[in-house]
Amino acid sequence: MQIAVFSTKPYDRHFLDAAGAGTGHHLSYFEVRLSLETCDLVAGADAVCAFVNDEVSAEVLARLSAKGVRLVALRSAGFNNVDLEAAKRFGITVARVPSYSPHAVAEHAMALILALNRKTHRAYNRVREGNFALEGLLGFDLSGKTAGVVGTGKIGEVMCRILNGFGCRLIAYDVQPNPDCLAIGASYVSIDELLERSDIITLHCPLTPATYHLIDANALRRMKHGVMLINTSRGAVIDTQAVLHGLKEGVIGYLGLDVYEEEGDLFFEDLSSRFIDDDVFARLLTFPNVLITGHQAFFTKEALSNIAETTIANITSFAQTGRALHEVSTEKIVR
Ligand code: NAD
Repeated sequence: MQIAVFSTKPYDRHFLDAAGAGTGHHLSYFEVRLSLETCDLVAGADAVCAFVNDEVSAEVLARLSAKGVRLVALRSAGFNNVDLEAAKRFGITVARVPSYSPHAVAEHAMALILALNRKTHRAYNRVREGNFALEGLLGFDLSGKTAGVVGTGKIGEVMCRILNGFGCRLIAYDVQPNPDCLAIGASYVSIDELLERSDIITLHCPLTPATYHLIDANALRRMKHGVMLINTSRGAVIDTQAVLHGLKEGVIGYLGLDVYEEEGDLFFEDLSSRFIDDDVFARLLTFPNVLITGHQAFFTKEALSNIAETTIANITSFAQTGRALHEVSTEKIVR
């Protein structure tokens, strides 16, 4: 098949070339994001391969369909950037990589928790400047603290195992409780109870209409003063303005983000020679108790290799049978 691959970096090409070797597929790589402005680049392609910040809206799908594209192969687990109803209307199959390394994301979430708690990011800078004072670096024992895990699918389950290893008390919220998390010792509670009881809240649910701004001003009012909030899910699960207010009030004592509502204009690019034209994001960066990474939780060798192999397998299966291995349907959206 002819495949137009969007939002590619050298590391994507490396792993996709390796996975695609010998399959007969032809991959054309584009650095730009897929959008209405760039979708003409697909000329002649049967499939489009897209990533988390590519725009797979109804308008884009209409153009892709008119150009003969029959498959959108996502290199991600999340599919919130795709208008699935429109894809169905245009007869375009959407496939994703449901599980490539839940460990990669959960381990990164834990790295954010540990760094925020023990202020490793600040200690690193101090020591490099010959400042060995400990004031301001006081942490707390994770052991015995209550960790609330929102979304206990593949990533949330690994997160429960990691937190359990640190001696945390586990509470969880999910629309479909996971028996393996119960076996680890997690108890399922309502979202309100989770917000009220947790010392640490970590988000691992997908972005859907039901989880959009799940953490808003009302949710903040229920939280313990000084709670740690970690989001490696999708930016819009959090209402960033409300969280900013929560930081100023001290309700949020620590904030760890790997995703951001408006990340599409920032993440995955080197903007260090420019200014950040997003005042909310810039304000977040001024807090000493905020740690932000640029959507890198998935970024391990194992994950990139699995993403490339499953993406190519989805494409090969579609070419041979008309069905991708891991299709996404509108029924997958929990409203
Ligand atoms: P998964 O499908 O295995 O698990 C998601 C869980 O969320 C399921 O148990 C589901 O029942 C639950 N859920 C769905 N709707 C819910 C709701 N309204 N309230 C509470 N729980 C709900 O997915 P996963 O592989 O664990 O990934 C979770 C999310 O992590 C993805 O959707 C994606 O947005 C995000 N993610 C981020 C990165 C990153 O690099 N930062 C990488 C991969 C995935």
